[in-house]
Formats: sequence, structure tokens, C-alpha cells
Amino acid sequence: MPHEDCIFCKILNGEIPSAKVYEDDYVYAFLDISQVTKGHTLVIPKTHTKNIYETPPEVASSLFARIPTIANAIKKTYQPIGMNLLNNNEKPADQSVFHLHIHIIPRYGDNDGFS
Ligand code: 5GP
Ligand code: ZN
Repeated sequence: MPHEDCIFCKILNGEIPSAKVYEDDYVYAFLDISQVTKGHTLVIPKTHTKNIYETPPEVASSLFARIPTIANAIKKTYQPIGMNLLNNNEKPADQSVFHLHIHIIPRYGDNDGFS
């Protein structure tokens, strides 16, 4: 069920445009609007779930199962020299959108802007 007022549910239903990186029946990946490094991507489950605490194991496992494919696609396109995965849960830990998401942050070296 889409969650009212959830930005990422609006991205999923096309109400808010996004730059698609990958999509299948379970997940959607798109470029973060605020690129901390080139190719910074968010991967979200198509099922709305607030954060890791409220995520059923089957949603978590189908989400994480797609990460290697998506990471390799980003690696091929942007040719980073490394990559960080990041998941923020609750405001004190910098969660600002309350629909579970994994950040994929390609890394390019010491001065790539992410630390
Ligand atoms: P959080 O801080 O919750 O871990 O990450 C939320 C991310 O969503 C932020 O990096 C932010 O730039 C991104 N974001 C917020 N609104 C939009 C949007 O409308 N489109 C896209 N593509 N990214 C968004
Ligand atoms: Zn949502």
C-alpha cells in the first residue's frame, strides 16, 4: 500500500519524476536528487516500509538480493574505485525520508566529497 505523503511512494507511482537506475517487481533504484558523489543512488522496496525496524524479512531479503546487480551496473557506468552502502534509521541517525532506502555511494578517491 502506498503511504500518504511519502515522497518515495510518489516516485514509485510516477507523481514525482526520478532518474531510474534499475527496476523490477520488488525494487526501484534511482539517482539521489542531491548527489553526494557522481552516481549516488537510492534503492527502495516497492512495498512501503518506514525503516529497517518495520521491514519484514522477505522485503529486506528481496531488497538486498538486488544490490549486487545494481552496484555492478553503477560500477560499469561511473567507474568508481570503491563504493559505500548506507542505511539511515530515524531522525537522530539522519533519516529524512521515512520509506526504507539503501544509499549506494560510489567513491572516487580522497577528494570525492564524501567522508
Ligand atoms: P536519508 O537522509 O533519509 O537517508 O536519505 C534521503 C535521501 O533522499 C536524501 O539523500 C535526499 O537527497 C533524497 N531525496 C529526497 N527527496 C528526493 C526526491 O524527490 N528525489 C530524489 N531523487 N531524491 C530525493
Ligand atoms: Zn513510501
